[in-house]
Amino acid sequence: MTDIREAFEAAYGHAADGVWSSPGRVNLIGEHTDYNNGFVLPFGIDYRTSAAVAVREDREIHLRSTFAEGEVVGNLDALTLESMSGWSAYVLGVAWAMADAGVDLAAARGLDILIDSDVPVGAGLSSSAALECAAGAAFNELWGLGLDKLAIARFGRVAENKAVGAPTGLLDQAASMLAEDDHVVFLDCDTEEARPVALHLKDKGLGILVTNSNVEHEHATGGYGDRFASCAKGAEALGVTTLREIGADDLPRAQELLDDETYRRVRHVVTENQRVLDTVAVLAAEGPTAIGDLLNASQASMRDDFEITVPEIDLACDTAVAAGAIGARMTGGGFGGSSIALVPLDKADAIASAIRTALSDAGMREATIFTVTPSQGARRDH
Ligand code: ADP
Ligand code: MG
Repeated sequence: MTDIREAFEAAYGHAADGVWSSPGRVNLIGEHTDYNNGFVLPFGIDYRTSAAVAVREDREIHLRSTFAEGEVVGNLDALTLESMSGWSAYVLGVAWAMADAGVDLAAARGLDILIDSDVPVGAGLSSSAALECAAGAAFNELWGLGLDKLAIARFGRVAENKAVGAPTGLLDQAASMLAEDDHVVFLDCDTEEARPVALHLKDKGLGILVTNSNVEHEHATGGYGDRFASCAKGAEALGVTTLREIGADDLPRAQELLDDETYRRVRHVVTENQRVLDTVAVLAAEGPTAIGDLLNASQASMRDDFEITVPEIDLACDTAVAAGAIGARMTGGGFGGSSIALVPLDKADAIASAIRTALSDAGMREATIFTVTPSQGARRDH
């Protein structure tokens, strides 16, 4: 990353009042459970988006990013969804969401903002939430709003849903805001209650290896929609509003009522919710070395029941486990994207090279492999 204070001065001709940052995220377990009002368990990563900000005399918001040319200018007296486009919508959208929810911005002053980031964009690590949350944290402090972290996360989500137009849940923003060093964030997508859960990777010499398959299938969007529809169909047939309301005891009845495909979709969501709860319990009772089976079972369920993995991801996960990973699974929406492996750090390089070799031997596309460290959420840096 650039020295953001220097870059800010070069861009605006005066010093920033402060720098706020927020991380990208990886989901440890709990896939396609969010829109079924279930449980997810993401963590913030050691790749962050920073916002250097100075208060202005007027009500204008000037926005620059090291990621894009030029300057975008908004105005706190004219925040409309129609006026927002491109990357600035992720920032101005947060201010819009606050105002729309009745947060009093009458006394808020305009801002000069420079964004910088080392979160890879569009790699499934949620650079979008990192951006919204860095901006939201800065707004909260500079405008004296007194919002808690979850409230800021919710405004980030509204920005993403309404200003950007991406129909996503609260997972990304909750992770980015609430993340803590060496913790995961347990989020109940029904009640929107969230709490950090200790991982203890550091004590055990463990790390998380991310393998970006660099595969993105054309049917990612369609496939996502199909899965969403299958879950809704299953819930309706079972007489519930969301699959959150049913558990393992209901599966025999589900199998009788549903066609095989819908049944397997439902079974993934039901068992995945339980695996998130089990992961939280096992982390507390036995620590991270004991969650391997849950990660592997999640991978198998996504591969066989939900059918959202691709051969590249399956091979990366199987190879990681064979080479000494404690467990491995796809992370993210599926149809390509990334997988994670929980690994002893002293074996990370050997596991990464085993994955590279296996993919190459199978004639598959080269992956991008790197470790991430569960890190602190949104904060003021200086
Ligand atoms: P992901 O969140 O998986 O990285 P998204 O498509 O949700 O992918 O969000 C990526 C978009 O977020 C970018 O296209 C851009 O509009 C915006 N964005 C992310 N990081 C930055 C940045 N540092 N500066 C400006 N815009 C950014
Ligand atoms: Mg995103």
